[in-house]
Amino acid sequence: MLIDSFGREHRDLRVSLTDRCQLRCTYCMPEEGLQWAKDVLSADETARVVRVAVREGIREVRLTGGEPLLRRDLLDVVAQIDVPDLSLTTNGMGLARLARDLRSAGLQRVNVSVDTLRPDRFRTLTRRDGLAAVLDGVTAAKEAGLLPVKVNTVLMRGVNDDEVLDLVAWARAEDVELRFIEHMPLGPDGAWSREDIVTADEVLAVLRSAYEVTPVGQRESAPAELWRLDGHGPAVGVIASVTQPFCGDCDRLRLTADGHLRACLFSRDEDDLRPLLRSDASDDELAAKLHAVVASKGAGHGIGLPGFVPPPRTMSEIGG
Ligand code: SAM
Ligand code: SF4
Repeated sequence: MLIDSFGREHRDLRVSLTDRCQLRCTYCMPEEGLQWAKDVLSADETARVVRVAVREGIREVRLTGGEPLLRRDLLDVVAQIDVPDLSLTTNGMGLARLARDLRSAGLQRVNVSVDTLRPDRFRTLTRRDGLAAVLDGVTAAKEAGLLPVKVNTVLMRGVNDDEVLDLVAWARAEDVELRFIEHMPLGPDGAWSREDIVTADEVLAVLRSAYEVTPVGQRESAPAELWRLDGHGPAVGVIASVTQPFCGDCDRLRLTADGHLRACLFSRDEDDLRPLLRSDASDDELAAKLHAVVASKGAGHGIGLPGFVPPPRTMSEIGG
């Protein structure tokens, strides 16, 4: 098992398949100027890392990016992964076309990012058009059985923070689990300030203004705290990554598209697996590297502590 020096057992691997994206969400990517990774792992290399990680105790794999649906060999990657829980996070563009094939290849469920239901705001937030395609993608994912469909929303003060109840009403009508994620300092320079985070507490206050809000179960290692509204319908999640960090329960590891293993979203260190993957190193040697990275994991992300410095990579490069 992949256990770190604080006794946390690692069971969840986030795998970024590309750092590229056709959108440019303001909290994630700069409008231009990002250098794309030059040497991403092949489908076979990615599948090998996952296989070894599963052998060592990983039970949940989430494919992400950048935009994972842009990978031409995505179905091949999905088909090669054998893990109890295989999911994918997408911006939803192109999902309508791919949902059925992804399900057939073995994908179990998707998380789709929807920050707004208004086309003009979608354009402001992502610097591109495409809301209709995203919403079609949500419908297609449900029809294809990629269940439960979860929807991620990042609220930005003065941009979409007045849409909490509209998004909740839409999610209830669509029967999807909506999760509000606090804005984290992982985007382009200057895009984040602590004062501008729409906090989990603020979101809960808005929910309580319109619904009777009751907790659903225990959070355990899952980042989202789940709430039931008026006693029925899909749960609504609130992910307080910044204001109430859940690092003490963290069970996640990350693999970047260019083959670097990271113990935390906010790590400033990462280990390049490509030299091992491209030599005649054995699976045991690869496993030893996974254990070493887990062993090096710090106690927490430290956002808010004096001396905190965000990593030099954006969320799209690390894999959200
Ligand atoms: N392109 C896909 C998507 O947008 O769902 C997958 C990759 S994206 C980096 C994964 C998730 O990270 C998305 O839900 C996105 O909203 C979230 N994200 C990106 N930058 C973020 C930030 N600075 N703070 C919080 N969440 C962020
Ligand atoms: Fe692309 Fe996802 Fe980042 Fe938006 S959040 S720019 S969709 S990778």
